[in-house]
Order: sequence, then structure tokens, then C-alpha cells
Amino acid sequence: MNIYNLIRPSIKEIKPYSSARDEFKGATGNLIFLDANENPFDNGVNRYPDPQQLELKKSISKLKQVPIENILLGNGSDEVLDLLIRVFCEPNKDNILVLPPTYGMYEVLANVNAVEIIRVELSVAFQPDTELILKSANAQSKIMFLCSPNNPTGNSFETAKVEELLKKFKGIVVIDEAYIDFSEQESWINRLREFPNLVISQTLSKAYGMAGIRLGICCASEEIISVLNTIKPPYNINQLSQQKAIEQLKLSNVVLQQTEMLIKEREIVSNELNKLKFITKVNPSDANFILIKVDDADKRYGQLMKKGIIIRNRTNEPLCENCLRLTIGTSIENQQLISALKSL
Ligand SMILES: *Cc1c(COP(=O)(O)O)cnc(C)c1O
Repeated sequence: MNIYNLIRPSIKEIKPYSSARDEFKGATGNLIFLDANENPFDNGVNRYPDPQQLELKKSISKLKQVPIENILLGNGSDEVLDLLIRVFCEPNKDNILVLPPTYGMYEVLANVNAVEIIRVELSVAFQPDTELILKSANAQSKIMFLCSPNNPTGNSFETAKVEELLKKFKGIVVIDEAYIDFSEQESWINRLREFPNLVISQTLSKAYGMAGIRLGICCASEEIISVLNTIKPPYNINQLSQQKAIEQLKLSNVVLQQTEMLIKEREIVSNELNKLKFITKVNPSDANFILIKVDDADKRYGQLMKKGIIIRNRTNEPLCENCLRLTIGTSIENQQLISALKSL
């Protein structure tokens, strides 16, 4: 499969903006920086940040067991997904494939970029219908977004189905693994070398507890990473975010403990939800949330809101009639959620 042919012609011709900090290389010692028109007085943030985030990438590389050359960082996954669409999809010509019900940002970003959307609903078991997906794709289909574990359904896609799509789809397959840390399934990161069209998107926003600093991680072949690098804004990850992420990643054993705790809580909450009469379905979850089906989603959503508990009403999504999405909180928060539900 030739990835180069999938890249938009105009993107192939771009020379990346060469920032002051890109051009200076090699000199060592006590350097005097008079190259970037910065204010020279040190206040901790007066210098431009590292455009390639080398130190942070080194910790992520170690954590994920992926070479630095296969990593691009974004200002949240949203920036990563937007860059992918802009590299591969010609506005008003190409399209992307999405599998509703799923994460809403794929459609928003496609719309912003004037890229058509082909929707192929998941099966009732929330699995991809591979045959229908491949039949719905056409020569203009450049990217397929697979979210696994999927938001809002919470389940992971079957490995064999994802494999089939990776092998047979003639475009880029983006696997959004925002919730992979809560899943039993192995990350597709370990299979990057097998599939040249595979792109994995992860984030520090969920299990890693850093939604506030906006850090998305993209892993792909060197070829794909280098073309993403040519169009990314030069200083897309600010210095405070880089510093905070480096600090927090040193505590990744804490994250592992928290994740284990949240997975245990997920089982406790599921069991309690199953006892309630007005809840007609509690979907199994591989993520840090549970999708439930209730008698009347709007009514139950409103009742919980009055009790000061905010959840996500997904009733208007395909296959999600009367469905609510509950994020797993601390043990105390979950107990409060359960007793509020019991009192309805
Ligand atoms: C929360 C979430 C993200 C994370 O986005 P960020 O921009 O990194 O915070 C990505 N994909 C899915 C499916 C999500 O639910």
C-alpha cells in the first residue's frame, strides 16, 4: 500500500515553516539566544518551547515502547485528528468513514475541513459491520475512524474485524485509543509495523489525568509522522504543558493504581445499576464510563441534575435511544450516584 499517493497534492509540496529553534542545532555550551525576538529576561516562560518536544517524547517513547520517530504530539487528540484530515482529505472531494454511535469530533473536524462524511452504523452489538463498511467506501474515502474502546458505547471492537478493515480498506485507518488504559485489549501500537496505513491516537486526558493541559499522542509510521510534522503549528505544545506532562509521567505508577481502582469501581457500579428496575440495560464497558438504557432518558437525566449529579444524555445518538453515559468517579462519588438513582 502506497501511503504517499494518499497525501493531498498541495501538502506534498509544502516546505514546513522553519522556526528559529528548528534552525539552531549543534552548538553547545553557554549559549546566547538572539535568534527568536524573545524578551531576554527570565521569568520561566520567556523562551519559545521545544517545537519537537524531545524530552517529553522521550518519556512517552519509554512508556509506550514506541520509537520517537513514530510519535507526534498534538494540542489534545483533537489537533492530531484535525492534522490527519488535513493531510489526507481534499476539501469538497474526499470523504471519511465513521461508525456511529461514536465520538462526535470526527464529524465536527470533517465539517470544518469541508470533507464529506460516510456513516456506517455499528451492529446492535456495537461492532463494526466490516462488509457494509468496505462496500460503503469509495475511491475518495481517505480515512476510517475506529474508536476502540468506543465512546459512548464503552466496548472494544473485535480484533479480527479491525484486522480485516486494516487489510482491506485502501486508506488510512485511525484507531482512537483514548480509553485503552481501561481495557483488557492490547493496544494496536504493538502492531504498527505490520500495517503501513495504521494510525493510533491516544491522549493524556483520560487515565493519565491531564485533560487540562491538552496533550494528544499520535503513533504511526515514520512517513506519516513526518508529513504530519510538516503541517503542524511549530510551537503546538506550550512549555507549561510539556513540563507538567514530564513531571506527571514520572508518577505513572500512581496512574496505574488509579486505573485499577476505577476498573474495580466500574464493576461495583455495574452491579448496582443492574439491580435498578428503570434501568433496562447495563452495557459491559472497557472504558471509564458505562452506557445504560433507561425507561426515559430525558426524565432521568433531569432528575439526576436536580440532585446535583451531571451525566451525559446520549438518547439522540443512533442506536442509543434512552441511553445515558455515566463516568466512573471516586468511590464516594459513585456511591452518591447509586443512592441518588435508588431514590428516584
Ligand atoms: C475524550 C476523548 C478524546 C480525547 O480528546 P483530547 O482532545 O485528547 O482531550 C479522544 N477521543 C475520544 C473517543 C474521547 O472520548
